[in-house]
Amino acid sequence: MKSKIWLSSPHMGGNELKYIKEAFDSNWIAPLGPNVAGFEEDLKVFLKTEKEVGALSSGTSAIHLGLILSGVVAGDEVICQSMTFSASANPIAYQGAIPVFIDSEEDTWNMCPLQLEKAIKDRILKGIKPKAIILVHLYGMPAKIDEIITIANKYDISLIEDAAEALGSTYKGQSCGTFGEFAALSFNGNKIITTSGGGAIVCNTKKSKEKAIFLATQARDEAPHYQHSEIGYNYRMSNIVAGIGRGQMEVLEDHISLRRDMNQFYKKIFKDIDSVTVFEEPNEDYFSNHWLSCITIDESKAPFSREELRLALLDENIESRPLWKPMHLQPVFKDSDFYGTNICENLFNTGLCLPSGSNLSELDKKRIEDTIKKIL
Ligand SMILES: *Cc1c(COP(=O)(O)O)cnc(C)c1O
Repeated sequence: MKSKIWLSSPHMGGNELKYIKEAFDSNWIAPLGPNVAGFEEDLKVFLKTEKEVGALSSGTSAIHLGLILSGVVAGDEVICQSMTFSASANPIAYQGAIPVFIDSEEDTWNMCPLQLEKAIKDRILKGIKPKAIILVHLYGMPAKIDEIITIANKYDISLIEDAAEALGSTYKGQSCGTFGEFAALSFNGNKIITTSGGGAIVCNTKKSKEKAIFLATQARDEAPHYQHSEIGYNYRMSNIVAGIGRGQMEVLEDHISLRRDMNQFYKKIFKDIDSVTVFEEPNEDYFSNHWLSCITIDESKAPFSREELRLALLDENIESRPLWKPMHLQPVFKDSDFYGTNICENLFNTGLCLPSGSNLSELDKKRIEDTIKKIL
């Protein structure tokens, strides 16, 4: 059996162990310590932002805290991009709030600004103004940020950016994750950098970061004994995990350029194939980290179907996967409202994510290319 080629697998830089050893040597084996503070500072510098970064146990917990800090409580409505990973939407349910899903647009595959405004107007007519908007930068592609921010401001609704896949992506030169009232980053095992599992919240003010960390560390009031006047969570990142993060920050720029090279690699393979479109930035305002490289296949023109290509790759032990299945089509959210047509549904039906890791060897790439060319 040939070795497995993954869509996206962990890629260590080398210095991660040094930071972990420092944590052991100083006995900072806890959900706080120098690596946690150092990792937060590294992220802040990388994002080129005055905003505050708080390291957490996951990207999901960052979205959850973003909702809580936006004042979302049971019965509220929260608008969310339909085409995304379930972790964007699940925290809405944790709060007992009601998700309202929005279609994608064709350029970035992210939230359609027209459908967003339509939804907000309609909900207001029905007597409920949504409390927050969760915007995702799928596969690293920045969403139509100017348009979305204009709408969020116009209706005075908190914008939460799910930048879990978009660390290193920029829009008009500004980092994804620095546009919203709050933003979530993820360092899960398959992301552009990984801490094995972990995340971070980006907050507008020092005060809101302090509140996020307070909630992430069981909401302890100031007192010598354990006293609580709010429900808290155990969402803080550990100092060991943050050590991996500090090592990974040293190679993040490399990972971005290697992932972008993978995108070029696929563009070359499919250059003369009319029925296949490689997903790329709509114009120079957008800079994607190309966390995953994706294609869409026009099955009316292609000599093969999306599923045939996926299975041909699988035969060679090469992982590929259909694009995210929209949330409004998921059994768990089947009763939720959806504003849009069939754009994200079509993407789901025709799109495929291809191996995109920063650690793919020339041999891996040759295997991928040969397998694709065979079916072409
Ligand atoms: C990975 C991911 C998350 C969740 O991050 P975790 O760190 O795994 O909790 C949220 N949203 C999107 C779009 C993701 O890809």
